[in-house]
Amino acid sequence: GACVGVLGGGQLGRMLAVAASRLGLRCHIYEPGAMPPAGDVAHRVTTAPYDDTEALTAFAESVDVITYEFENIPTRALDLLETLRPVRPGRRALAVSQDRLTEKAFLAGLGLNVAPYAAVDDAVDLAEALDEIGVPAILKTRRLGYDGKGQVRLSSSAEAEAALAAMNDAPAILEGHIDFSHEVSVIAARALDGQVACFDPGENEHKGGILATTTVPARLSAAQRTDAVLLAGRILNALNYVGVLGVELFVTPGGLIVNEIAPRVHNSGHWTQNGCVIDQFEQHIRAVAGWPLGDGARHANVTMENLIGDDIERVPVLAADPANALHLYGKTEARAGRKMGHVNRITGPAGG
Ligand code: ATP
Ligand code: MG
Ligand code: MG
Repeated sequence: GACVGVLGGGQLGRMLAVAASRLGLRCHIYEPGAMPPAGDVAHRVTTAPYDDTEALTAFAESVDVITYEFENIPTRALDLLETLRPVRPGRRALAVSQDRLTEKAFLAGLGLNVAPYAAVDDAVDLAEALDEIGVPAILKTRRLGYDGKGQVRLSSSAEAEAALAAMNDAPAILEGHIDFSHEVSVIAARALDGQVACFDPGENEHKGGILATTTVPARLSAAQRTDAVLLAGRILNALNYVGVLGVELFVTPGGLIVNEIAPRVHNSGHWTQNGCVIDQFEQHIRAVAGWPLGDGARHANVTMENLIGDDIERVPVLAADPANALHLYGKTEARAGRKMGHVNRITGPAGG
């Protein structure tokens, strides 16, 4: 049988492996860390670092196609893997989304609205950027940030020095603060033949920089909903994308502003597991394996809640409510801020 290779063995890799398995495909996970959440469910796991050419080669040769659950794959590893098997989504999607500066320029180049931004490498750049953009603003590392890590908010230019120090000499980007009413995201998919399908946008609530809940339907007008879906399609087509993409948006009176994109299945798309016939994980596996996309129409209203750290202790109570669909990642150590699972609470039929 065909085998899908997945770089990264966290919860996203785990749920991709389950989806692959349901389609009769095998799944081989490549993960540098020991005992990854995906290890329990994948058909095969390679535990090796991304600079181990021998392990990478053996991994690639054992699979038919390679995909990934995180966007920060080292360039050298990709260079090698690409010569051996198709990597989907492709190089361009990774290059664009690994660096917030490249990402903003790409999105602006498509004619989409983004926050005002400027590259910041030193104190002179930051002073100029603050002059141009003003405060409040957010200084973010260009690479490797997630869950709000590597970000500092500035409410006055007096905070410039401390903010820059927090970047630890890493290249950064200053973004103007967007006064949004709420945040939504679109999870979209594109097949090998260019077919595009979008899930209904979800409304996201963050706590402490980490996604706390996603609710469908999102509060959006019909025009905003159409805008969101069309702009996601534009991004997919521009990248000649294959797979599932997450697009985070700010809703403002002046229209939708694109915050960032993620070239993979996305935490804000977990509601699809219980709100759609075909969820984002199956949609992604179908796309990268060269299958047609499935029906992602939403049949239920859902609130997805992340179970973070100690939240895992609520599982017995959550499990007692029949409206809750639990998805637990099999992680043993409940550290603060660690995503341990999520619960999809069905709040009614779609449109009900
Ligand atoms: P993720 O875990 O989603 O990858 P991240 O660390 O890449 O997060 P962002 O999505 O850029 O970070 O920012 C985290 C949150 O901070 C956003 O969801 C939003 O609430 C807020 N935020 C980020 N940029 C801005 C901005 N320019 N204006 C207002 N709020 C912002
Ligand atoms: Mg991000
Ligand atoms: Mg984000």
